[in-house]
Amino acid sequence: MNITVMNGACEDYEFDVAELADGTLAPEKARIVRLHLAGCTRCRRWRDEYAAIDARLARALPQPRLPADFEWKLAARLRERASTARADTRVAAEREYADLMTGLRDRLRSATLGGVAGAVAATGCALAAVIQGFSALAALHSRSSSSGEAPAAGWPSRISSSSTCR
Ligand SMILES: [Zn+2]
Repeated sequence: MNITVMNGACEDYEFDVAELADGTLAPEKARIVRLHLAGCTRCRRWRDEYAAIDARLARALPQPRLPADFEWKLAARLRERASTARADTRVAAEREYADLMTGLRDRLRSATLGGVAGAVAATGCALAAVIQGFSALAALHSRSSSSGEAPAAGWPSRISSSSTCR
């Protein structure tokens, strides 16, 4: 292998000339470097030497090659991952839906039980009021029948004062 001694480009252009050769220089800067190259022999020579070394390296270095089925295997793995991700998302959504429905059923059941309990309590209160009313009426009736008086107007107030239901 021949060893080329590079003298280099003008100090301000060395990296820019290399980037221009690599095709990575920004368009506006590339325009400025090209103008400089047009008028600078030193930089043109350096650019040519750089390009020659680059070409030799490209020939000398081993070119890594992907296996023939690389693209096919990659596509298959991507499809597999996408379908696994979709399945995971579906399972999570179904679990969330089941949890939501269980929560709603529990709340509905406790609300219904509360409603039944409330209805039972209200019915109990009503029955208690009716029983108290009958007891008071019976007491008044027995008192009035024994004393001969008409039922007093006091009995409804007894019912309302003894009632604890709301
Ligand atoms: Zn120059």
